[in-house]
Amino acid sequence: MTNSSEPAWFPIALRLDNVRVLVVGGGMIAANKVRLLLAHHARVDVIAARLDEEMRAWQEDGTITHIATSADEATLRATLPGCRLVYAATDDRAVNRVVAGLARAANIPVCAVDDPQPSTFITPAQVHRGLVRIAISTGGAAPVLARRLREQVESTIPEGTGTLAIFMQQQREHVGTACPDISRRRQVWETFLDGPGAQAARTGDTARARAVLDDILASTTPRGEVWLVGAGPGDPDLLTLRALHMMQNADCVLYDQLLSPGLLDRVRRDAELVFVGKRRNRHTMPQEEINAELVRRAQAGQRVLRLKGGDPFVFGRGGEEIEALLEAAIPFQVVPGITAANGCAAYAGIPLTHRDCAQACLFVTGHARADGTLHLPWDSMARAGQTVVIYMGVSALPALCARLMEHGLSPDWPAAIVERGTRPDQRVITGTLGTLAAQASAADVGSPALIFVGEVVRHRVVSPA
Ligand code: SAH
Repeated sequence: MTNSSEPAWFPIALRLDNVRVLVVGGGMIAANKVRLLLAHHARVDVIAARLDEEMRAWQEDGTITHIATSADEATLRATLPGCRLVYAATDDRAVNRVVAGLARAANIPVCAVDDPQPSTFITPAQVHRGLVRIAISTGGAAPVLARRLREQVESTIPEGTGTLAIFMQQQREHVGTACPDISRRRQVWETFLDGPGAQAARTGDTARARAVLDDILASTTPRGEVWLVGAGPGDPDLLTLRALHMMQNADCVLYDQLLSPGLLDRVRRDAELVFVGKRRNRHTMPQEEINAELVRRAQAGQRVLRLKGGDPFVFGRGGEEIEALLEAAIPFQVVPGITAANGCAAYAGIPLTHRDCAQACLFVTGHARADGTLHLPWDSMARAGQTVVIYMGVSALPALCARLMEHGLSPDWPAAIVERGTRPDQRVITGTLGTLAAQASAADVGSPALIFVGEVVRHRVVSPA
């Protein structure tokens, strides 16, 4: 329910360099405010009977001025003149309210922490990237919610945004001269922000950023590119921040069947979703056609996101797609993802390596050739002291287990299968090389599933409920 008589907070940004600020309180709450104030070069006086460790360190090296007394009225009245802001930051609400009352009477803006009612200003939660600052406030109503929202915003603002802002500031005059028309200028900046130039500027590659900007200024058609992005094994929370950023900026997304629907929900609403998935024996689109489609769309000026399950460079044919892009001179970026082995291991509680029994870990593909044969390094796989993770091995599971036993592993050798790992309906079946195939078939295990072979399976841990 909103209450229109409730006063709303007016957002404002203050310059604090050399401004005297009074903080009342010597504990953690006060220290949090002091840290923020010092970062903005304020001069901080602290009234507190005693100081916590961090505050004491500031006091000892002269960073803050400490008035070592409790917050009695006489001390407050003597200290307030000359202060431009006050934080009442003790852990005693009554004391904070006395401080707030005196500050208000002296016409000094005051913030009583976690107590909006006597406050005349509040300090919002902030996301901070150099020149860029985003403030989040619930008007003091729900600080924990504000912090949660801050985390969400934090995760969508890429690292280097501050550097990007500085680059844009430096280029304003240049762009203004080259492009006097204001609406065209805005288009230029938007194209720049969406393309490789912004990424170059974020990482401090000013020369490349400037080259891209000049290209945009000179051209009338936009330049496309391809982003090869790993989406992780299924749980959308396992997306990287960078993947999420690109999903929100792409013009079109080419995706596989392997992706869970929750992932596609994260894609920008007006992006075109193109299904290019493949299922064994039911090729929706051959790899060459996918490559050609990526090239065609990028040449038409689109920012094409090729979203791949797991990591693009682990059994993902990412290498082939990149070669096609290189041949056509299309700019590209590759973003790693959590590969199924990592995701399934973590969510199933099976460590990939273990001091006692697995000093190495081998990722292999169990995908059979067209003639049904498996070409695998059996001798390297059938060894103790390591974990073997088999991708795409469900249909060949009986053959895989049999060959590993033929090559010397015992039928008691531990093995597990993780189906739809990291997803809400994940299933984990543990057994041995002698039993796993029958267990999987009895449980009707389907794709995607990952096979783990090795003693780490015995070290499986499951969190108490
Ligand atoms: N590039 C992907 C792998 C593509 S190959 C990655 O890095 O993870 C596809 C195979 O990955 C599937 O056959 C299956 O063995 C495995 N896989 C992918 N996602 C999985 C999941 N959520 N659970 C279990 N196995 C998965």
